[in-house]
Amino acid sequence: MMEPVLTIVVPCYNEEEVLPETMMKLGLLLQELMNDELVSKQSKILFVDDGSKDRTWEMIYKEGLKNDHVRGLKLARNVGHQNALLAGLFTAKELSDCVVSIDADLQDDIQVIRDFMLKFHEGCEIVYGVRKGRDTDTFFKRSTAQGFYKIMKMLGVDLIYNHADFRLMSKRALQELERFKEVNLFLRGIVPLLGFRTDVVYYDRLERQAGETKYPLKKMLAFAFDGITSFSISPIRFVLMIGFVSFFMSLVFGGYFLTLKFLGNTETGWTSLITSIWLIGGLQLIAIGLIGEYVGKIYKEAKQRPKYIVDIDSFNLPVPRHRLLNQTGEDELYNLDFRKIAESNK
Ligand code: UDP
Ligand code: MG
Repeated sequence: MMEPVLTIVVPCYNEEEVLPETMMKLGLLLQELMNDELVSKQSKILFVDDGSKDRTWEMIYKEGLKNDHVRGLKLARNVGHQNALLAGLFTAKELSDCVVSIDADLQDDIQVIRDFMLKFHEGCEIVYGVRKGRDTDTFFKRSTAQGFYKIMKMLGVDLIYNHADFRLMSKRALQELERFKEVNLFLRGIVPLLGFRTDVVYYDRLERQAGETKYPLKKMLAFAFDGITSFSISPIRFVLMIGFVSFFMSLVFGGYFLTLKFLGNTETGWTSLITSIWLIGGLQLIAIGLIGEYVGKIYKEAKQRPKYIVDIDSFNLPVPRHRLLNQTGEDELYNLDFRKIAESNK
């Protein structure tokens, strides 16, 4: 049997500090996997630049020109981790039998990719990397993340506990994933829905090797909220339930107040009145806001805007790579005007 072609997809946003190390380590690993005949010699690492503002793309691009095993994909602007990942997965899928996604910061143990491949050879279509513990995360990150998994579970969303976006997917699984057309694609929730033969590999999560987290609290909360509302309508049900409960309560109270009135000892009642106005008003606002959230999601889905736009694909340059290298010095390469070159090479 021919060895399978593997592509390792790495989304990168302002990762210039950690990128050289990531490139080197992943490159070495890929070489080892090739030597052990676990993956084909055609295997690649695909770096997706998610509209970085630093030298990230320049580094990816140059490496891509020099190194046959490196491919660079530059997105036209920052679209966020999930969409950058999707851009990478769908681009990689075309030329690969299986794709592994991993963060640029080397927090996930890259040696696990070897285990992923072994499982793939055994016939698994999806392999999840799962963290054993979160000792290296701050207490804050650990507890918020765990809270998130618990809430999702309560809301009936099936997530793999302590699994981030470090996983292997086969070409077939990716083809099926592509059929999920939703714009609000929450990968961690969707992938388990695919089914197929799956397995799990456990590993120790390490510290970020360099640079800073690109997920500050605000983004984390937005991510969690998005995950919940993309996957579960329990919040709406909950609101509906509150609605029913307060309706019945008001019937009961109504009856009670009427009896009081007929018995002749009416309260002045200002306190209860004003309290209930505020209470109901608040509940209504919450309910409307929440429903608005879902309407907003529907609005986005209805538009079906593309999730990402590719600017440059280093495997799809207007001029063959070797010709570029012969024509110009490495440092000039980055500033090439592709439209001009394409003209002059006609
Ligand atoms: N990332 C991205 N686009 C963004 C934010 C992050 O592609 O808008 C990438 C980032 O470069 C990294 C991965 O997503 O490879 C995960 O980000 P990070 O490690 O900062 O998140 P954390 O591990 O702290 O949750
Ligand atoms: Mg990280």
